[in-house]
Amino acid sequence: MATAASPFLNPIAAELEDVGPQPTAEALSRRAKQRRQIQGMIVGSYILDALVLLIYAEAGTIPATVGPAYAACGLLSVAGYMVLSETGFTERFKDHYFVAPQLLVSMAIMLAFTYLAPEVGVMFLCALFVVFSFGSLRSTPEQTAIVWTATAFGLAGLFLLTDKPIAMPHGNYLERIATMSVFILTIGRCMFLGIFSSSMRQSLYRSGLKLKEAYQRIEELAELDELTGSFNRRCIMRMLDEEIARAHRTNAPCSIALIDLDWFKRINDAFGHPTGDEVLRTFAITVFANIRNIDRFGRYGGEEFLLVLPDTPHDGATRILDRLREIIAGLDWSAFSPGMRVTISAGVATLKPDESPDTFLARADSALYAAKARGRNRIASG
Ligand code: GH3
Ligand code: MG
Ligand code: MG
Repeated sequence: MATAASPFLNPIAAELEDVGPQPTAEALSRRAKQRRQIQGMIVGSYILDALVLLIYAEAGTIPATVGPAYAACGLLSVAGYMVLSETGFTERFKDHYFVAPQLLVSMAIMLAFTYLAPEVGVMFLCALFVVFSFGSLRSTPEQTAIVWTATAFGLAGLFLLTDKPIAMPHGNYLERIATMSVFILTIGRCMFLGIFSSSMRQSLYRSGLKLKEAYQRIEELAELDELTGSFNRRCIMRMLDEEIARAHRTNAPCSIALIDLDWFKRINDAFGHPTGDEVLRTFAITVFANIRNIDRFGRYGGEEFLLVLPDTPHDGATRILDRLREIIAGLDWSAFSPGMRVTISAGVATLKPDESPDTFLARADSALYAAKARGRNRIASG
């Protein structure tokens, strides 16, 4: 039922799109269209009621002038609102639908006609219910309370200060037809109300899902390094802290490796920075394809990466790193540029009892320095 083409039946989505300091021209025209649709339905509703009043008039229950007078009041109130809406006046207000003023005017019309034509009072009182329920769906709690209070005073005046015989006519066949129509129309409006609120629920649900997806994406973006898709420095450092804490708690071994691409500056200089970026990306993808699910891999800075290896003793960690080193060195990099070779060096360290993240990292860093000093394309232990 709710489609993008029907902002009226998709009210929450339409309003969520309108959120912002200044509504766009598109949002303003969508709102205006939505207001026209609502007012069109209100006009239709007044005309239907006026037709029922004509049946009552035909049955001799009320004067023939009541129906046209009722329709005229309804149409005048809609016309007044449309002037304010089309001139942009209502846009100055947060409640650009003017829900509360419109509700008050409608309630006043219903109460006035219950007073003027009490012989068919039940019809206006039924309309009162529907109008109030429909309005309260779009109102703030304060607006609903104000309209309810005003209506309660109106009803009290009607029932307590007058002795009008507010009636539900059913004395002859025409009256029975008219009263039946009143109830059928009322139930029809209640059905519409149900469809309207269920479409509101659906669009709220959809907006909730969209928000959730957007939030997940933001979280991912906040954790990932844009170029390589590996965890960013902040995230991998947090993961390192967590793994160190876990290893201390459980007495499990934990190793790390600081990995640095060899002579990377030369790669940039020889093949260009964009090619250097591609090399970094390919290196990261290759590492991801060759580590375990429990391992954590993130960009420590520039062309230096940190690999956290939980539950891994020192010899296991050096084996893993040596395998990675071999894989990188053995890749065919000539697809990037003929003659290109890429190698890595890594410093491996295994956590000591009660060791802090800083000294743990410093040991891996000095091991990396040693691997570089010994000629690169090698793994050293710290
Ligand atoms: P070494 O073997 O001693 O590590 O030599 P190196 O040339 O790799 O080391 P150095 O620290 O001198 O140079 C690192 C280079 O990495 C310099 C920098 O321009 C490049 N680099 C850092 N981040 C990026 C990046 O995101 N993209 C590209 N293309 N280059 C980067
Ligand atoms: Mg380097
Ligand atoms: Mg470096």
